[in-house]
Amino acid sequence: MHNRSQVQIEHNYIAEPSRPRAHCLFLNSLLPLIFALSFLLAGCSFHETSRDFFAMDTVMHLSASGSHAEQGLDAAEDEINRLDRLFSISNADSDIARLNQSGSTTVSDETLQLLARSKEINSQTGCAFDITVYPVASLWGFYSGNFQVPDQKALSAALSSVGMDHVQVNHSSVTLDSGTQLDLGAIAKGYASNRAAKIIEESGVTSANLSLGGNVHVVGTKPDGSNWKVAITDPNNTDHYAGVLSVQDTAVVTSGGYERFFQADGKTYHHILDPKTGYPADSGLLSVTIVSQDDVLADALSTALFVMGEDRAVDFWRASTANFEMVLITRDGRIRYSEGLESAFSLAADYKAEVIHR
Ligand code: ADP
Ligand code: MG
Repeated sequence: MHNRSQVQIEHNYIAEPSRPRAHCLFLNSLLPLIFALSFLLAGCSFHETSRDFFAMDTVMHLSASGSHAEQGLDAAEDEINRLDRLFSISNADSDIARLNQSGSTTVSDETLQLLARSKEINSQTGCAFDITVYPVASLWGFYSGNFQVPDQKALSAALSSVGMDHVQVNHSSVTLDSGTQLDLGAIAKGYASNRAAKIIEESGVTSANLSLGGNVHVVGTKPDGSNWKVAITDPNNTDHYAGVLSVQDTAVVTSGGYERFFQADGKTYHHILDPKTGYPADSGLLSVTIVSQDDVLADALSTALFVMGEDRAVDFWRASTANFEMVLITRDGRIRYSEGLESAFSLAADYKAEVIHR
């Protein structure tokens, strides 16, 4: 199985002390000291610290600047790992694994919150976003790694357990109908990036870049005051990027079929499933990028609009009162982005795009 994460452009800030023109002996003797001091000061104000770790089934890269960076990154990493332990399908003690195992259990407030949000987005997207897709994803081997194209009979049986009406919530207790199981994989990273950003800000960090696989959250601006640049991969040519978003204080989430997939009989099968057919969504879109200050919405919608396809995605954006913008890339190589990104999105050389208006 292949796993790629969204490309990001992060030009490290290079401090360039201006060239001294002083000729007098006194100044000349001070020059080494002035140089040393300016490098030190540049180091203090722009020093970036970063770390990589594996959580939520993906490689995460967090970076932050300033004197609270180390402490902020520690807290953010701890928070992401805590949420991984809470929502993971593979950690037997997690709320979701316990629920999937027993069919009925009490869960934490945060899990309840995320289930409620999942249900809301499920209904808003005409069930394109559906956390009960687990039995189908399991048949395809996306959890075990034993990939296979399931036969139609098994797929139909699994599909009969898919649907949010198979999930009952009563106070803090959740009950699943027999055969139904949950997977928060398309929304948990959004929740985690939102929490990590909050925590890092509370630590006093004003400039950070949190990359949780395809989910990016930028805090503030780059240390030099300019916007963060988040590149969007060209799904037709994944070594290239189609364009760059110039953003601050927002989430940028991309879902693409090119992120995780397997090949069988010359065909490619990816991990974003259409809950109606049980097959990998074949909507004509190759990637959907959502820009929103609401990380959870951005994560869920990147998956949902990918399933819905170009026309339904555009209709959804036009009708929605939610605060989000999007970039759609189609199989035939077209790029369309919503008008709110007009000043933020720059196309890479040789790419063309069309703006979607309300
Ligand atoms: P990634 O997790 O690679 O960033 P997504 O956010 O699009 O990508 O989530 C895809 C994951 O969510 C899949 O690996 C699967 O676990 C689950 N999933 C697949 N299809 C759907 C769907 N239609 N609705 C909700 N979750 C889905
Ligand atoms: Mg998602």
